[in-house]
Amino acid sequence: MSVAIRRLAVIGVGLIGGSLALALRRAGAVEEVIGCGRRAATLERARELGIIDTTMTIAEAAAAADVVVVCVPLGAMGGVFEAMAGAVGPETVVTDAGSAKAAVIADAEAAFGAVPPWFVPGHPIAGTERSGPEAAFPELYQGRRVILTPAAVTDPAAVARVRAMWEAAGAGVVTMDAAHHDDVLAATSHLPHVLAYALVDALSRWDDRQEIFEFAAGGFRDFTRIASSDPAMWRDICMANRGPLSAALRRYLSELEEVIQRLEAADAAGLEEIFHRARHERERFLELLEGRRAS
Ligand code: NAP
Repeated sequence: MSVAIRRLAVIGVGLIGGSLALALRRAGAVEEVIGCGRRAATLERARELGIIDTTMTIAEAAAAADVVVVCVPLGAMGGVFEAMAGAVGPETVVTDAGSAKAAVIADAEAAFGAVPPWFVPGHPIAGTERSGPEAAFPELYQGRRVILTPAAVTDPAAVARVRAMWEAAGAGVVTMDAAHHDDVLAATSHLPHVLAYALVDALSRWDDRQEIFEFAAGGFRDFTRIASSDPAMWRDICMANRGPLSAALRRYLSELEEVIQRLEAADAAGLEEIFHRARHERERFLELLEGRRAS
């Protein structure tokens, strides 16, 4: 592919921003990558790993880059937008990778005075439980999806540029309303993370925890893998999407109530019915995932 982005600025060079830069480099879709962040050591490591070419302040990068991708934790988005306010170049498009969208749009509105037409809110549905530039790898977005949540004021040309960027990184792009995104992601991503954290935390406080962890096997490891994710990042995601997430947790509690009732009533058939339904749905989900990867 010919170079489509002359200068890309990645603000927050960790798993998400670093992987995007590596994927675009591999695709030949970017000429130069500018890195911005908080700690100089992180940016230096990103340079050693070949993720970025140079570093700048956030305001300098916003003025110099064709595309700016903000990949900092959700709690830091507002501060980053404030640092670039008034500095964004006339042809520059800004997007982000935050896992909750209504909160990021509110941060942009507060920092810029209104939601700007050149700002395209986005969220790649890809990740691992690892963080930082060392965790970045170019295949992260291959066959994955990215959700863009443009507002009514968003310039369609800006959306097209961001779409082309993610497609060059190997992802498929869909657009949806920000509130709908937040409801869907509360159920499919934020709820499972909270469940994994809560399960490990609960068991760790039971009296016989030493024995519990000693005999825990593959199922426990699979179910709780995502409890190894960065606690500060997930604190921010849960806070940013707390309305939809608490609604999803309440719905889940009612499912747990049903399981308890069937156990207490020794309703084996009822329990098996739940498990059958769940296994069938999971198989459908895996087929869907395979189909998406193959296409
Ligand atoms: P990460 O690996 O921890 O990277 C975040 C980067 O932001 C780090 O390089 C960090 O550098 C920098 N940073 C932190 N606070 C900053 C600040 N105040 N100003 C500037 N830079 C700052 O996290 P990530 O997994 O890439 O996540 C980044 C974003 O993507 C988050 O908004 C998250 O919600 C979203 N997201 C994550 C996933 C996932 O599965 N991980 C998936 C989709 C979307 P320092 O070393 O300097 O702190």
